[in-house]
Amino acid sequence: MPLRFYNSLSHQVEPFEPLTPGRASLYTCGPTVYNYAHIGNFRAYMFEDLLRRTLKFCGYDVKQVMNLTDVDDKTIRNSIQAGKPLRDYTQLYKDAFFEDLQALRIEKAEVYPAATDHVPEMIALIQTLMEKGIAYVGDDNSVYFSIARFPAYGQLARINRDEMRSGVRIKNDEYAKESAADFALWKAWDEGDGDVKWDSPWGPGRPGWHIECSAMAMKYLGPSFDLHTGGIDNLFPHHEDEIAQSEAATGQKFVKYWLHCAHLMVEGQKMSKSLGNFHTLREVFAKGYSGREVRWVLMATHYRQSLDFSFQSCLNARTALQRVDGLVARIRNEILPLSSADKAGVKIRLDEALAEFAAGLEDDLNISAALAALFNLVRDVNRMLDAGELAGPPADQVLAALRRMDSVLGTLDIDKAADGVPADIQALAEERQAVRKAKNFARADEIRKELTAKGWTVEDTPAGPRCKRLA
Ligand code: AMP
Ligand code: ZN
Repeated sequence: MPLRFYNSLSHQVEPFEPLTPGRASLYTCGPTVYNYAHIGNFRAYMFEDLLRRTLKFCGYDVKQVMNLTDVDDKTIRNSIQAGKPLRDYTQLYKDAFFEDLQALRIEKAEVYPAATDHVPEMIALIQTLMEKGIAYVGDDNSVYFSIARFPAYGQLARINRDEMRSGVRIKNDEYAKESAADFALWKAWDEGDGDVKWDSPWGPGRPGWHIECSAMAMKYLGPSFDLHTGGIDNLFPHHEDEIAQSEAATGQKFVKYWLHCAHLMVEGQKMSKSLGNFHTLREVFAKGYSGREVRWVLMATHYRQSLDFSFQSCLNARTALQRVDGLVARIRNEILPLSSADKAGVKIRLDEALAEFAAGLEDDLNISAALAALFNLVRDVNRMLDAGELAGPPADQVLAALRRMDSVLGTLDIDKAADGVPADIQALAEERQAVRKAKNFARADEIRKELTAKGWTVEDTPAGPRCKRLA
């Protein structure tokens, strides 16, 4: 079965057919850097990481752009309260965000554009909308998008035209679907903005939140691209407005597949800053949980199902990870002489497990099916070890299969379990083993030297290469 996703635009599961074969272009709405991100936000970033890694697992070259919203209503309000220049204020939370991504082992996007570095692109886009007669200057000197002049408005959120308040102007970045109205593209400066302002053809002011994403997405991915994601709360108005601005300006379809994740909840309510029911990642770490455990919690429920957060779920994640760690340790410590191994049987079982794992992910990121494939494999390999049926190279093949699964899961610590051998060292050792098998001894010697230069030595054992730190 081909890779397929539930598209919020069509309300259907559709096969993934990118605009350019073999490539996937992905825009993910990033954080508004006015405070530490909470783990609800990280549910969205984690789902996007699973999507990104799955696309790569399926062989696509991925270009991901994640913006940083470093100017909007909230960043201005909080920086003024803190008495700090906007740039200094947001830098603190940008740094914290990247630290948190690393702790959760979220892969880096290819581009992280910041809104304040792209104001000229936003002004140019608004100018195009003005020239086309779709935007107008309101009596407050702000520029608004006229939803009456873009007949496709409401396509994503499925709003009827007669429910819209066209001609009514709304300046806030966030508002409800029931109050769909002409929204601000450029907000004229007022005293509440302090010294945050840029010059524009319409006087000093700042961009609206929605135009930021349209301008940055199209700058880095072109007028049409494959995938756009965010939490479900971004669907309206943010994503609806992004479509309107972009398609009205270019006349082209903005995005082929829209994917939205459900919320992280606490006792039945959305985790959010405004409700005050949130935990930052730092708070969860302070209670003794690790990045990989939180990653597991956020990943292990299907992205379109709401997920209730509790510390019990962190404990469950710990137990699940211990099962895999236990197997990795057994493979490393209990391998038997090669002669007793059933090589062919192991290979068939591994291929089957990887096929099940892939089939789960290809089915709209069905993580439960993928994790079932992992745990069935763990159970079967434990049985093989109990029966003395696993040895030497086949045991390494098990580790290779787990490593392949971990290219998506990003939590298994397979190589760390090998006495803290870093992944790049392990990869070199494996490459050396492969070239030796191919009798390319010159390259094998070169790799040994590279390893020595990095402070490692490699021993060849019946179970495969073992890396050791040089004394
Ligand atoms: P913000 O910084 O508010 O713009 O949000 C950043 C991302 O986090 C967006 O994709 C939101 O949709 C998402 N988000 C916010 N709260 C939650 C939550 N409780 N569960 C899942 N995603 C969320
Ligand atoms: Zn956005």
